[in-house]
Amino acid sequence: MNKNKEQIQAEWLKKADLLTETLPFMKRYANKVIVVKFGGNAMGKKEYVSSFAEDIVLLQQVGMLPIVVHGGGPQIGEMLSKLKIKTEFIDGLRVTDSETIDVVEMVLSGVTNKSIVTAISNAGAKAVGISGKDGNLITAKRLMKIDENSDSNVERAIDLGFVGVPKKIDTQVIKALINEKMIPVIAPVGMGEDGLTYNINADTATGAISAAMKASRMIMLTDVSGVLDEKGKLIPELTINEALDLIKNKVVVGGMIPKLRTCIDAVEGGAEASVIMDGRMPHSLLLELFTEHGVGTIIRKNDN
Ligand code: ADP
Ligand code: MG
Repeated sequence: MNKNKEQIQAEWLKKADLLTETLPFMKRYANKVIVVKFGGNAMGKKEYVSSFAEDIVLLQQVGMLPIVVHGGGPQIGEMLSKLKIKTEFIDGLRVTDSETIDVVEMVLSGVTNKSIVTAISNAGAKAVGISGKDGNLITAKRLMKIDENSDSNVERAIDLGFVGVPKKIDTQVIKALINEKMIPVIAPVGMGEDGLTYNINADTATGAISAAMKASRMIMLTDVSGVLDEKGKLIPELTINEALDLIKNKVVVGGMIPKLRTCIDAVEGGAEASVIMDGRMPHSLLLELFTEHGVGTIIRKNDN
């Protein structure tokens, strides 16, 4: 009986400790913009989405201003094969023709976007799903990729079709939503000055929005624990120069290249810091924001 009481007391103390540890972090981020990219791969299972939504709602409840940008590569691929639309790939990059861009927009702005909105709504907050087209949020320009395998001295530009990069960000629509305590959920589709629809890499879109919003944190949720060194060990902190070296030395390859570049660009463009971390671990967002050392890789400016 006595022991039980002690046990209960110990549990209370542990809980109180936890609360006092987290309070300074809640204060630090009160009214601060946190942009979270929820990757297509991190979205793989239904429980990842609902646990992500719960965390986002909690961030808002403790006073942060969360903004969600999502990917959807795997979901687009599934729908294209269901509809038997064949797509061409150049150097692993999908060529997006006019038939494909319709499917891209349908899947991203429709199914994927609304599934996240639904999950956040179920978790108890108001989410509003928009794409980069709404309120002129993202004006896109066509991406021309330079062919690195071209053997001539003249660089060859590869046309990937309706794939764009953000040219201009108009934050008015996001600001209006967060002022009303609503959570913007953004599909990475933008409109060009030519009035056409462009698919934008979700990492790139997240970076541009984070910089324009001068976010306190840009968090990239993916399917690895963060940036790994040559031995496969997590690197907890990186300066811009260190991050650039990792790309140059090919320690970072594949999908991690645009992700890390985006982190660098966002920090250089005005975001305070960027984080790359695993989105499949339950409540990883809370651990990252509410503990001193975080759980992923944080990228900051060189001199702080
Ligand atoms: P997302 O859908 O979240 O954008 P990507 O597949 O595009 O995910 O990018 C993450 C992937 O990058 C990881 O799963 C991993 O295979 C790859 N990667 C390449 N180099 C590294 C590295 N040095 N550290 C961590 N991941 C790396
Ligand atoms: Mg990717």
